[in-house]
Amino acid sequence: MSQLVLPGATVASLQRLGALDPVDNRILLCHALGLSRTGLITQSERALTADEAARLSGLLQRRLDGEPIAYIVGKREFYGLDFEVTPAVLIPRPETELLVELALERLPPRGRVLDMGTGSGAIAVALAHTRPDAIVTALDVSHDALAVARRNAAAHGVTVQFLHSDWFSAATSATFDLIVSNPPYIASGDRHLAEGDLRFEPAGALTDHADGLAALRRIVAGAPAHLAHGAWLLMEHGYDQSAAVQALLTAHGYTDVQSWHDLAGIARVTGGRVVTP
Ligand code: GLN
Repeated sequence: MSQLVLPGATVASLQRLGALDPVDNRILLCHALGLSRTGLITQSERALTADEAARLSGLLQRRLDGEPIAYIVGKREFYGLDFEVTPAVLIPRPETELLVELALERLPPRGRVLDMGTGSGAIAVALAHTRPDAIVTALDVSHDALAVARRNAAAHGVTVQFLHSDWFSAATSATFDLIVSNPPYIASGDRHLAEGDLRFEPAGALTDHADGLAALRRIVAGAPAHLAHGAWLLMEHGYDQSAAVQALLTAHGYTDVQSWHDLAGIARVTGGRVVTP
């Protein structure tokens, strides 16, 4: 295979490569050379060694083959924090920051919060980092995901209790003041699963292998037994699922059922409160 970048190429010349999106190109250049964004400017005349040219060519080729940039560099920023990501976890999305903000508004002092299907731990770690008083529990059915999430909690110096659990199965009698989740909500066969970054992400984090509402149904049905009086359940869902999720919550007796829009104007998070009679 011919190399995309030849030894001797200067850092400056590599910032004008046409094959990739300029931002992706810059991220890979920094990653391959161990440079910061400022370093790219101050070292613009540096010429690549043969090793560096080979390494950068390899990274560019992976990106050209469609691999998500977050997996290539092994990290993604979420809620102002850097998170380690591997192909065992969904890549954190900016729209999920809406779920974090809504959760922070509803978390009482020293509140107990549960993140269901934590993946990289992005939601749980963002909550624990912003609210050191909170008692944060996070669960996932994937051991590999939990290992990534534990490293992210440690890297940010926060305490999160991690549970290996298939939804509520290992949560037993625990009670929370808030439950949040970004579950798999893409219907099986949805064409998006075969496009872009999603092709490389864990299927179990994206789809329920059913109608897209299976995980949301289990969470809605199980949460009342684990929520304190008046506590909120907040769930992220797909662009066209807010009415269905509201109907599920209403059917299970939740009150104050409502949805919130993400920055793209899409109803992205739906929630309700559990009021025990
Ligand atoms: N937001 C993701 C996407 O549509 C899906 C994540 C999920 O299923 N929870 O790309």
